[in-house]
Amino acid sequence: MAKLPIYTYPEPVLAQIAQPVAEITPEIAKLIEDMVETMYESDGVGLAAPQVGKSIRLITLDETGPKERAKPMVLLNPEFVEQTGVKESEESCLSLPTFSCKVKRFDTVTVRGLNEKGEAVELKAEGLLAVILQHEIDHLDGKTLVDHASRLKRTLYDSKVKKWRKD
Ligand code: ZN
Repeated sequence: MAKLPIYTYPEPVLAQIAQPVAEITPEIAKLIEDMVETMYESDGVGLAAPQVGKSIRLITLDETGPKERAKPMVLLNPEFVEQTGVKESEESCLSLPTFSCKVKRFDTVTVRGLNEKGEAVELKAEGLLAVILQHEIDHLDGKTLVDHASRLKRTLYDSKVKKWRKD
């Protein structure tokens, strides 16, 4: 396993709509292992393939976090089947250093997809897990937290990022 570099905003791959995964090739299997490792080593609870520069519909997550590592999950081609309720969550993202914002999310979601063995799975989630799923699936649709933020907040972050890139 290897820790992969994380692509940060405004890398174009983060704004692309990712492609479905047709089959689990040895390359995809390796990418899955590396993404789980990268997620934990970066202190994250979720990671989407575009964040490591791959524009494919693949996410990894573990709501228990990098210390416990008790519930690692992999989803390929995830799709929402049902979304109910509303909640507000305060989120940050490995691809947006120092940024955080409040996001309106569904409270409960049901997601369908494939696991790392290519088997069909359906998952009903609420609370933190539901938030992680919505955040990561946003990445597959080329959306990051800045797309949920106010125009002012986004502009401020844009100028911060520009300054970092110059330094
Ligand atoms: Zn993110």
